[in-house]
Amino acid sequence: MIKIKDDELIHGYLTRVLSIAGELHQVRDLAGIVSSSGVIRKLPKLNEQKIKYFNYLTPKDIDHMLFNNTPYTYAQTGLTNIVGDYILNGRQLENKRIARTQLRYCIECFKEQIKNHGHIWFRLSWGYSVDCEIHKTRMCHLRQFTQECCHRTVNILDNYKSATSGKCFFCPCTNWEFATDVHLGDWNKKNYHTFWK
Ligand SMILES: [Zn+2]
Ligand SMILES: [Zn+2]
Repeated sequence: MIKIKDDELIHGYLTRVLSIAGELHQVRDLAGIVSSSGVIRKLPKLNEQKIKYFNYLTPKDIDHMLFNNTPYTYAQTGLTNIVGDYILNGRQLENKRIARTQLRYCIECFKEQIKNHGHIWFRLSWGYSVDCEIHKTRMCHLRQFTQECCHRTVNILDNYKSATSGKCFFCPCTNWEFATDVHLGDWNKKNYHTFWK
């Protein structure tokens, strides 16, 4: 049983558990959590095959996670069961306008997490900014494009595996040499918006 970290973004937690369970083989294994282009929504949604890896979570765990590890805000009490059902059982939420952004990460934070805790996690606060609040540096984001090191085309799962290990999926490069900073150009600015905007 893998516990969610205090400041961990739920999307990162779900992928972390599935990765440890050996359940991430194809891009579609990230479905409902991270899209093939790297988009995440305020609330992820697991499919039936994936739910079984989380059946150790108690209703209390789910409540705690929904309040502390998602950017979703609750306008009414008693909503957590419904939202928990959405994530874990694919139940439809009435409000379909769920904000989106991309899964970003700070390389320096990842290095510190590995050094101090032996594994990485995606911080909840990374959903709200393109810069790391601790290191004041521009973050990188999961993407499907080419690796900076060997220029091999990667899909979002290859890039996830690279990002979470620091090693390119295709070539011997290490230390996140494949990664590129989030780029904010005129055209793509609107595609990189954060959960607040
Ligand atoms: Zn950082
Ligand atoms: Zn490479």
